[in-house]
Amino acid sequence: MARIGIDLGGTKIEGLALSDQGEALARRRISAPRDDYGATLAAVAGLVAWLDAEIGAPAPASVGVGIPGVLSPLTGLVKNANSTWLNGHALDRDLTAAIGRPVRLQNDANCLALSEAADGAGAGCRTVFAAILGTGCGGGVVVDGRIITGRHAAAGEWGHSPLPWPQLSEAPGEEPGVGTRMEDERPGPACYCGRRGCLETWISGPGLADDYTRATGRVLTAVEVAALAASGDGPAQAALDRHVDRLARGLAGVVNLLDPDVIILGGGLSNMPHLYERLPRRLAAWCFSPDVATPIRPARHGDSSGVRGAAWLWPIQR
Ligand SMILES: [Zn+2]
Repeated sequence: MARIGIDLGGTKIEGLALSDQGEALARRRISAPRDDYGATLAAVAGLVAWLDAEIGAPAPASVGVGIPGVLSPLTGLVKNANSTWLNGHALDRDLTAAIGRPVRLQNDANCLALSEAADGAGAGCRTVFAAILGTGCGGGVVVDGRIITGRHAAAGEWGHSPLPWPQLSEAPGEEPGVGTRMEDERPGPACYCGRRGCLETWISGPGLADDYTRATGRVLTAVEVAALAASGDGPAQAALDRHVDRLARGLAGVVNLLDPDVIILGGGLSNMPHLYERLPRRLAAWCFSPDVATPIRPARHGDSSGVRGAAWLWPIQR
C-alpha cells in the first residue's frame, strides 16, 4: 500500500506518495491558500487526488498530514497553529470528509522527528529531539520510534518557552564612534502567542533577521544575513554569533530535561554552516552535565522530512 504525506505549511502545501520501502513515487508542491479554511481543505483534497492519479495504486493510499499546530485531545480542534485560520477547526474530520478516507494529523515538528528517527539522521537512536528553525520554531520528541505527544499534545512545544539565561550586553552604537548602548534580552520581542521573549522570537528565521535589524537598522532576511556573514561582514557575523548562543541556551534546556541521543535541525535555517561549526561547543558550555557531546545534525531528508514523516504516520504511529 502506498502512503501519502501532506505537509500543510503556512505558505506552501507539499504532497508526497511513498512506497512501502520509503521510495518517493510522486511529489507536488502548491502554494497554500492563506486565511481561507475551506480553500485549504479543497487544496489538500485536490493534491491527494492528483497523487492518487499519478501513482495509480490499486488500493487507496493512506493519508497523513503534518500541520503547524496540534489537535487538542480535549476538544478535537486544531490549536496553536501559526497558520491561524486552521485554529478551532476539526481539521482531521473535515479532511477525512473531503478526501473520503481516514486522515491522521500530527504536528509538523513531530513529523520531522518521526521521519528522521525512521530512516534519517536519527536512525538507530532511541531518543530523538528534532527542531524546526524556519518561519517559526517547533520541536518534536520521538522515543523508540514513537512520537511523544503528551497529555495536551503539548510535548516538544519548545519555541514558546522563554530564552534561558537572558543577557545584558554592551552593544556598539548605531553609528561607528557614537558610543555604546546596553542591549537587554529581557523582556524580549513580542510573540504571536501573546507573551514576550519566546525562543521563537530569537532563533527562528524572522527572529535572526529582526535581531540583525535591531543592531544595524538594516532590513535583511536570515538567509541574507548568513550570506553577508560568509563574506566577512562584522555585524552579520555578530548576529550569527548571538543566534548560535541563544540556540545553545534553548537546547541546553532540552538536554537538561530529556538528554536526547541526537538533536536534529530542520527548517529553512538548518543548512546554515555556523550551526554545526559553533553550536556543539556552545551547547556543551550551557548544559549542567559537564560532558555533554550530543550530536547535532541537519535533517537528512532536508525539506522533505516533514512530508515523509506525515506519510509514516500510518505504519509507524498507531
Ligand atoms: Zn510565543
